[in-house]
Amino acid sequence: MSDRKFKKLEYKHKGITWTTYPEVCKSCGLCIEKCPVKCLSFDDANTEYLELPAVKCDIEKCIACKTCELSCPDAAIRVEGKR
Ligand code: SF4
Ligand code: SF4
Repeated sequence: MSDRKFKKLEYKHKGITWTTYPEVCKSCGLCIEKCPVKCLSFDDANTEYLELPAVKCDIEKCIACKTCELSCPDAAIRVEGKR
C-alpha cells in the first residue's frame, strides 16, 4: 500500500469537519448534485487534477449526512462529526 499523502482541504464548523482531496477529485459534480442542502459547489481556485475545479463546502449549512462522501466515486471527500 502506498504511503503517499494527498493534499487535503478542510472546512470545520460546530464539530463537523468536511474534507476534500483536490488531487483526487475528477470534477464529476455528483456530490454537488446529491447534497440535500446544496452546500457544495465547484471551487475554481482549486484545479489540481486535469485543470478541473475541485469542490468546496459552505460548511455552516452542512448537516453531516455523508451523502457526498458515499456518492463520490473517487473517495475524494470525508465527513466527520454530526449535527
Ligand atoms: S455531508 Fe451532507 S450536507 Fe454535508 S456537504 Fe455532504 S451531502 Fe451536503
Ligand atoms: S463526487 Fe467526488 S470526484 Fe465528483 S466532483 Fe464530487 S468530490 Fe469530485
